[in-house]
Amino acid sequence: MTTDQKPRTDEELRVLAERAGRELEDAPALEILRWAVDTFGAEFCVTSSMEDAVVAHLASRVRPGVDVVFLDTGYHFPETIGTRDAVAAVLDVNVRTLTPRQTVAEQDAEYGPRLHDRDPDLCCALRKVRPLEEGLEDYRAWATGLRRDESPTRANTPVVGWDEKRRKVKVSPIARWTQDDVDAYVAEHGVLTNPLLMDGYASIGCAPCTRRVLEGEDARAGRWAGRAKTECGLHG
Ligand code: SF4
Repeated sequence: MTTDQKPRTDEELRVLAERAGRELEDAPALEILRWAVDTFGAEFCVTSSMEDAVVAHLASRVRPGVDVVFLDTGYHFPETIGTRDAVAAVLDVNVRTLTPRQTVAEQDAEYGPRLHDRDPDLCCALRKVRPLEEGLEDYRAWATGLRRDESPTRANTPVVGWDEKRRKVKVSPIARWTQDDVDAYVAEHGVLTNPLLMDGYASIGCAPCTRRVLEGEDARAGRWAGRAKTECGLHG
């Protein structure tokens, strides 16, 4: 399907996404991103947690100036904000920072302090899920850095799929990559990474809900540790 024959209805998008997921299952990440850019043009963006800039780097090779969407929850580590700023300065991408409707202080005033300790699902809904859903209104397809080897909950991530909740095409170009693949790409291309990755953190989210991982733990074991929560709701 060429760019002047863009799918328009949700049903067309769903069928297209599921077919692309099958056809591109074994394709290199750049080919998957090329398909997304050719199909959606400016209606395609990359989302990044600024753990590293691998997908942003890949996408900038396919579409210089591509939108890279970052959610600033107000609870990030300074190193994550610094990585966001460095990505904006170094890569040929357009970093768009999304923010929640309320500041942390406003949220504390309405819900009480440390909502993340008492009701992390609500905190994530207010500070992550809703801002992302509002930000994605500008796009028909979004790319993530999800990988199947990160945790059992991500083992079936398709390289292209249909995000029924948001009614968008969801592209995960490095879904089949391993940590070694990521490390090799970072080394080969000098890709920016969050300094916390060198300090015992394997997966980086908001500071109150992220700890270092222990030897033998999976990469996401440090997220919401000790709480009955493994995903923020962006990918479920
Ligand atoms: Fe709130 Fe923690 Fe979710 Fe961040 S990760 S939005 S601090 S519950």
